Parts: sequence; structure tokens; C-alpha cells
Amino acid sequence: MDALLKDLEATVGIGGLATGEAAAEQAYTPWARLGKPAAIVRPRTTDEVSRILKSAHAAGAAVVPWGGLTGLVDGGAAEGAIALSLARMNAVEEIDAAGSIMVVQAGCVLQTACEAADAAGLFLPLDLGARGTATIGGNISTNAGGNRVLRYGMMREMVLGLEAVLADGTVVTSMNRLIKNNTGYDLKQLFIGSEGTLGVVTRAVLRLRPKPTSTNTGFLAIESFEALPKLLRMLEAELAGTLSAFEVMWPEFYAFVTTEPAKGRAPLPHGSAFYVLVEMLGSHPQADAERFETVLGAALKAGLASDAVIAKSQAESDAIWALRDDVSQPYRNGPASTYDISLPIPAMPAYIETVRRDLTARWPQAELTVFGHLGDGNLHLIAGVGDRSAKKDVEKIVYAPLRAFSGSISAEHGIGLQKRDYIGVSRSPVELAVMRTLKDALDPKGILNPGKILA
Ligand code: ZN
Repeated sequence: MDALLKDLEATVGIGGLATGEAAAEQAYTPWARLGKPAAIVRPRTTDEVSRILKSAHAAGAAVVPWGGLTGLVDGGAAEGAIALSLARMNAVEEIDAAGSIMVVQAGCVLQTACEAADAAGLFLPLDLGARGTATIGGNISTNAGGNRVLRYGMMREMVLGLEAVLADGTVVTSMNRLIKNNTGYDLKQLFIGSEGTLGVVTRAVLRLRPKPTSTNTGFLAIESFEALPKLLRMLEAELAGTLSAFEVMWPEFYAFVTTEPAKGRAPLPHGSAFYVLVEMLGSHPQADAERFETVLGAALKAGLASDAVIAKSQAESDAIWALRDDVSQPYRNGPASTYDISLPIPAMPAYIETVRRDLTARWPQAELTVFGHLGDGNLHLIAGVGDRSAKKDVEKIVYAPLRAFSGSISAEHGIGLQKRDYIGVSRSPVELAVMRTLKDALDPKGILNPGKILA
């Protein structure tokens, strides 16, 4: 390890390397369990990333790529490993307005990239709560989702090309700028969503979109689950491709975020079965506002919603979104854990019922809070059973039924270490064997983010 650290210092300079206690201190974040890395190395160029990996590969040392460290499944855990932080590779290299693309380095913070696109009159649609810290490289390697997937897709849909460095230091430059390019294997897909286990993403070409010039936000009360998918499909059809969010809150979540000590105030009375935040992004402010109001009115008339409010200002819209984003409230009654799952919409009530029944059968005081991106089939569950040591048992209750419902144990958070033992719920032995073949081919020594996704 000492010889390797000398090599790393020669590559990045003394300012780009932290070891020992300094590394342990810098590895602290309040929400992620990163362990104590042997070193944190911060390269400035792709060539330095390549040299770092070449050295680590020769030494057989584990390397864990780090972005903004906002992941929720311990994908950045780096106990005893070399943590490779892309923080210093954070430039927006180019924006091509005519081509509607941007070229960014992996360590660029998502919000910075979004603001750069905005300043150029364009739009990078990825949006999630960690926007101010999460990085483009991390968004790519985890295939981030978030709030606007319904309209714009996940990160995968925004990546046209990328550059990645393989475990042995080989640089794969695949900076495609074309929307259509069917020339053999689409190599970028190997690195999107593979959580740094197949290569380290260093740069990317992102597809930008026209900047919306109107935003309309509404909040609706719904009285039955059956009305939810009907309302969703009605809005999709009637708003003709401009529906950008369909976020559902179960009543427990709504109660948490609209009562003291939460700062949020209830825009609609308590007591309904579900609450839905809907957002429309358009480009004709006057006409869009009228259309939005007409369509929500029609939903009320059709009995799909029992009550509705429309935000009349940016502040009112922000206040509604703040309710949705106030995800720490369900933790105020004691220890709890968040789960990110997806399943077909019609299967949701039976699945939630199964989880609730199994939790309360074991812990009568158990609390289950549900909310999420229902339009994407993606729910977030927060389960608190008053016993921190029961985490494994709760996981089993949440994940095991998903197989029968054809669901997924991870909709957008990834696998990391936390869900690794359950990947077999959502992936077949043949699929796992193909993943293993890819891993062995690209990283034969198993140095890249070892133990993540696959054991
Ligand atoms: Zn989410």
C-alpha cells in the first residue's frame, strides 16, 4: 500500500491525496456510511484517473469511485479502499446550443450543470432532492431518476455519450453526440447504472431540451386508489405530453408533512384517501394556465378528484413541492428506514396491504408511510418499527413480496451494498450470471467498487 500511495501522490500531487486520519475525517458524511478509506485521491484529468487505476490495478488495490456521496444504498462505502473522488473534475466543458448538447466532467454538481444549461436558454431535465450536491458522474453511474422521469426519462435517456476509465486504466472515449448511432454495441450503457463496478465515468455528452417557459402546479385530493391511474392517464392525454410530475402521498405522509413540527401547511383538508401533486411544464404561459385549470376542473367533474388547488405564484408552487420534499418528517417518531421500490400501479394496494399486515403482525406499533413517483410505478416506503436491530427483518417484509407482484427492489436508488442480498428477488440466475460475465471481462481482478451490486 505504501508504494501505491507514493505512486498516487506522484500522479496527483500532495494536494490531491489524503491518507490516514485525514482520509478518515474527510470520509465523514451524516447520511452515508463510507467507512475509513486507506486514501482519498482527487484527480484533475482523465489521464490522472487512468494513471491512478493503472497503479491500483498493478497493486491489486480496491478503488471506489466517489461523486457527491448522496447515494442511499452505501454504493460509496470504501473501508480500506482507495476512494477516487471526481470532485476536482467539475467543469462544464462546452454547451452547443444549436446541437442542444452539453459536455460536462463527472464531478460537476447537477445544479451547476442545470444552471449552465439554463443560462444558454436550454434545459437539463434531471431533478432530484440532492441536486445541490449530487454530481453528473454519480447521476450517470446510478442512473438517477427523481421528479420528472414521467416526462423526460431517467438519466440514461439524457446521456448521448461518455468517457470512462476501465479497471486497468484503459480510457474508453465514446463521446457520441448523435441521437441516432446504431454502430454496434452501445458501450455507454455498460457504465450507466452499473454503480462504478465496470468503469469510472469521467466525462459525458448530455442531451438538452427546450426550456419550459410555463410551470403549473396543482394539488388534488383523491378518494380511492382506483381513481389514481385513471386520473394519471386522463392528465397524460389531456395535457398532451406536458405532464411532468404525478407525485402521490398516502394520508400518513400528508399528515406528517403538514402538522407541527413540520413547517408545511395543508393546502387541502386532511381526511382524503390520497393526495397528488401534479406539474405541467409548457411553453405558452397564458394558454397553459387555462388548459391546466380546465383539465383539473374536468377531473373534479368526472369524480376522479374530490378537491383541488392550483398554485397561483412561484411561492405557492414551492410550498407544495416542499411538502413532497420534506421526507425526513416520518422519522420524527423514532428510527425508521426508507425503501425505494417499483411495481405495476394496479398491484400497489395489495402490495402495500401485504407489507402493512406483515409489519403490524410482528410489531403492533409499526408505522408505514408511503409516497412517491406513482406515475413511474415508483414508491418510497418509510417503515419504523421502534427497533433498530430489526432492520434485516423489515427489509425481508418489504422486498420479498415484490417477486410475486413482478416488482423491483430498486426503482432509482440502485443496489450498492444495502440491497445486494435481495437482488435475486428482481433478477433471475441467468441475468445475474451475465452480469458476472461482464464484470469479470472488464474488471478481472475485481478492484472496481468491489462487493457492490454482486457479492
Ligand atoms: Zn425518489
